[in-house]
Amino acid sequence: MEKNITVDYLRLSVTDLCNLNCVYCTPLEKREFLTHQEVLRYEEIARLIRLFIEIGIRKVRITGGEPLIKKNIVALVEMLKKIEGLEEISMTTNGMLLSEYAAQLKKAGLSRVNISLDTLKRDRFKAITGVDSFLEVWEGIQAALAVGFDPVKLNVVPIKGVNDDEIVDFAKLTLKYPLIVRFIELFHTNQRSKKFIESLLSSERTKKLITEELGEIKPSHMIKGEGPASYYKISGSIGSIGFISGSSSNFCHCCNRIRVDCAGRISPCLFSGHIYDTRPLLRSNTQDEKLLEDIKKLLSLKFQYTKYTIKERKIEMSSLGG
Ligand code: SAM
Repeated sequence: MEKNITVDYLRLSVTDLCNLNCVYCTPLEKREFLTHQEVLRYEEIARLIRLFIEIGIRKVRITGGEPLIKKNIVALVEMLKKIEGLEEISMTTNGMLLSEYAAQLKKAGLSRVNISLDTLKRDRFKAITGVDSFLEVWEGIQAALAVGFDPVKLNVVPIKGVNDDEIVDFAKLTLKYPLIVRFIELFHTNQRSKKFIESLLSSERTKKLITEELGEIKPSHMIKGEGPASYYKISGSIGSIGFISGSSSNFCHCCNRIRVDCAGRISPCLFSGHIYDTRPLLRSNTQDEKLLEDIKKLLSLKFQYTKYTIKERKIEMSSLGG
């Protein structure tokens, strides 16, 4: 394992289903969704998380698919909140159902939310996601701020010819709202994203579009859950902007995360294709000791299997979670 890196962050996908159908995310080919039986139950998830705490995980981010379409998602947050040693629970959502759930999630113990949004235009939202729900997402963002999630981050994937004319408008949101707007470089995950990869807008280019219009941006620190992003402020802003450059730069050496999909498959790296399937073990009489031993072994390989060691890309963000 890399020196000085503590793997303390786990991304937990709770469903492979989504209520949106984003042009660059969901696979082109007809998808086989997992059956109810194949997806981990909340008790099984809680057992896994307890084991992960023993090997150093301290933060869990719930993702999907879309986590808010999962039945009783608030109950999962409550269950995780009771696990000793788990210091933070956060969520990545498309925000469509957030205005309904924000207060309940906050009360259950969720600390932070990241909301994915690639456009501020209603028609374009429908063109990108297949659903006319921009207004619901916008209400979700306002609800997240109103109930006091701190910080509320917006995740934007800038793509040439799709939303590059809105980069400055997204940055300007930080003048009015205490949002952290993060521009995340598109990466090549599957056949669908491949169609767009030539339209990738690098963080460098995105930053330039902002500074050309809004002037110099100053580096900003102390943002909770900082991870691999670099953060800046535009003059006079109450929020911040961030850049995640997963395609144009390599931050594998400082990656502190592992992923578990909704069927209980652990991936030490999003791109590794190297997985460990816990579900058969969780559903047999396997002792915690054996599971722990295997998970530790898998983690020791984390830095051997990275996006630079695989050739074929078949990653489904829609089930493994971004
Ligand atoms: N449904 C939730 C949401 O929309 O936030 C969680 C799952 S979604 C897969 C998580 C994030 O992955 C979204 O912000 C989405 O934009 C991002 N994503 C999907 N495919 C991507 C790709 N090829 N490159 C970069 N980000 C991607």
